[in-house]
Amino acid sequence: METLERTTFTQTEKAQNYVNDVFETVKRRNPNESELHQAVKEVFDSLVPVLAKKPHYIKQGILERIAEPERMISFRVPWVDDQGQVQVNRGFRVQYNSAIGPYKGGLRFHPSVNASIIKFLGFEQIFKNSLTGQPIGGGKGGSDFDPKEKSDIEIMRFTQSFMSELSKYIGADTDIPAGDIGVGAREIGYMFGQYKKIRGGHEAGVLTGKSINSGGSLARKEATGYGTVYFVEEMLKGQGSSFTSSKVTVSGSGNVSIYAMEKAIELGAKVVACSDSSGYVYDKNGIDLSTVKRLKEVENKRISAYVDEHPSAHYFDDCSGIWSVPCDIALPCATQNELDELAAKILIANGVKAIGEGANMPTTEEAVDLFLKNKVLFAPGKAANAGGVAVSALEMAQNSARLAWTFEEVENKLKEIMKDIYSESIKAAEEYGAPGNLVVGANIAGFVKVADSMIMQGII
Ligand code: NAP
Repeated sequence: METLERTTFTQTEKAQNYVNDVFETVKRRNPNESELHQAVKEVFDSLVPVLAKKPHYIKQGILERIAEPERMISFRVPWVDDQGQVQVNRGFRVQYNSAIGPYKGGLRFHPSVNASIIKFLGFEQIFKNSLTGQPIGGGKGGSDFDPKEKSDIEIMRFTQSFMSELSKYIGADTDIPAGDIGVGAREIGYMFGQYKKIRGGHEAGVLTGKSINSGGSLARKEATGYGTVYFVEEMLKGQGSSFTSSKVTVSGSGNVSIYAMEKAIELGAKVVACSDSSGYVYDKNGIDLSTVKRLKEVENKRISAYVDEHPSAHYFDDCSGIWSVPCDIALPCATQNELDELAAKILIANGVKAIGEGANMPTTEEAVDLFLKNKVLFAPGKAANAGGVAVSALEMAQNSARLAWTFEEVENKLKEIMKDIYSESIKAAEEYGAPGNLVVGANIAGFVKVADSMIMQGII
């Protein structure tokens, strides 16, 4: 009787049951890691039609294998603060999947960092890196170290200690870290110096996001923000629309936000609000980007200081309030789960037309569903913010060829990569019965290449 019932399952039901079973295993193996569960669920749900059409992935145990990191490293990072007190932080590196290339992904320094956050970011990175079309696998790392209000010498002591341990696991052909929240060119520079001191030589390709003089790539700093706007521009084009004359809000005021604002303004948009973790600024005349750049990149100040120089602007003490500002296009570029269901409802009520995720998983599952149901164009981070890692791979290519491309050359390559990611994602969504759904399309397009490579390489 039992066998009879099983044989009546359709391919889709079998695929759905497989997805449910593997997801339960992921939850059991990684208890209390809600961000990882959220990221895995989103990808797995998209893959049901692929698994129904290609059941050999089930026999190959592809989901079990892809959800389990090849390696998760956790280590102690002791350092001495300016008062002579010894401090200890925890460092992580997840080497998630190397089927299509060496592990590649940023390092995040933020007090919220834990195993769940590093694993969710590493898992997403597998598919994002695959989407770029470049030969890079998925990895991520970081520490619960808080760089805010630390002196420059404290930052150097911490990053050197962090790299003393991390250097055992990375290399230009093995694992290539880069920046993320709290890690910019300064931190990468100190880590590169320490890596060279320990390992010898000048292995420039071991880290990306380096300063230009140390082998960094022009346009890397701009790449994630610019790439997000290029991707959204492609998505808008599909609807006969564009950034020109649109009203835009951008959360955060860090690396991704600043360069998303810059490109949006260049394309004719008016950016009316941006934020940091303390609050947001609204300027009806349009945010003056040179002020934001100076406050954030040079003076290390809070975004509230913007209103001291711009009397037309208002500061509000609640960062999530930015989503109540009416806009045509919203670009969440700060952090995970910053745009929830309530925020989505407000944005929709105010007539938002498009969302572009510059950050990783900034929109909650419920909010994504609402946008899709209400026909708001939605660009998922995995595809939209892939420009950063794509230019990191271009930095690796320049390092190994001992070349330095011009800003224009790199930007043109970035633009082409973002267009390709958009068309691959749209094509996959169409092929698997979800036309126009870029969440599904990006997940599938990223997944298939990795899954096929894993099968080609045997059970390892
Ligand atoms: P960043 O330079 O450190 O900037 C982060 C910004 O977000 C800061 O302005 C921070 O404000 C703000 N922020 C943090 N939590 C917030 C909240 N709840 N509400 C509003 N603002 C908040 O980091 P980033 O490199 O721009 O990275 C931002 C996001 O993009 C992350 O999700 C990251 O994983 C993703 N990403 C980055 C890259 C890259 O190349 N950098 C590539 C792909 C994806 P405070 O100063 O107050 O903390």
